[in-house]
Amino acid sequence: MPHTASPPLVDLRDLRLDTAISLVGLEGTAPQIQTAATPALYLQRLIDGLCDLSLKDPLTGLANRRHFQAVLEREIDRVTRSGEAALLLMLDIDRFKQVNDTYGHLAGDRVLQAVARTLSDCVRPMDTLARYGGEEFAVVLPACHAAFGKAVAERIRRTVAATPIRIDSTTELDITISIGGAFALQWIRSTTLLWTDRADHQLYRAKSEGRNRVCIEEQPDSTVTAEEKGLLFGPLYTPSGWGDLTAMNLNDSAH
Ligand code: GH3
Ligand code: MG
Ligand code: MG
Repeated sequence: MPHTASPPLVDLRDLRLDTAISLVGLEGTAPQIQTAATPALYLQRLIDGLCDLSLKDPLTGLANRRHFQAVLEREIDRVTRSGEAALLLMLDIDRFKQVNDTYGHLAGDRVLQAVARTLSDCVRPMDTLARYGGEEFAVVLPACHAAFGKAVAERIRRTVAATPIRIDSTTELDITISIGGAFALQWIRSTTLLWTDRADHQLYRAKSEGRNRVCIEEQPDSTVTAEEKGLLFGPLYTPSGWGDLTAMNLNDSAH
């Protein structure tokens, strides 16, 4: 039998924590390390702080692209197993370069922060909103039925267009966004890359059709009840999923 030794206890004074501490902003609590009464708690707080930093966009405080990618992976998994609807929206500020060019980068940053706040107010707690790139945002909406997708995206677009953004004491800007959307493929395991590509394609359409508009990919109405699926695909299917055949393609399995 191999001998399993317990891992050696770590003395926090042996670790190089200075950079982590200054990133997380825990300097004020550093003396706790010396007391030895709460080193595990202290390290846990430091790790939690670093995780938080690595998942957030510093300018807007929204989820960053890394965090969003992980949420999308989870959502694809869920939709594949449950067949529930989920909508991905890609949102891009219209003619944002003009804001920077006319009013400066700082004003541009204020616009990004204000748009992020407006978008946060528009989505549900169960939705994940992220800053996806420079002036591009993304939101994944679980349990969003196909019939409501366009209305939800329109509401977001209208709210941004109706919210002037103050960049200094005398200047307010009217900002608009274009939105592209695609639903996750139900019962079919896809990839985050394909899903974002489909939403991006719709965003490109919204831009080329004039901006300040919403384009959502047409969704074939394939609403099939759990009972119907049981009849179609036999005992492998249960209402909670496909047993071990989660990667099964609906079309492949129908013959
Ligand atoms: P379109 O309507 O086609 O989207 O035009 P656009 O001007 O919004 O798009 P374009 O890609 O030409 O320009 C995006 C600009 O966003 C250029 C870049 O300098 C700016 N940008 C990206 N990230 C930031 C940021 O963090 N802060 C500021 N102020 N500007 C940024
Ligand atoms: Mg833009
Ligand atoms: Mg862009």
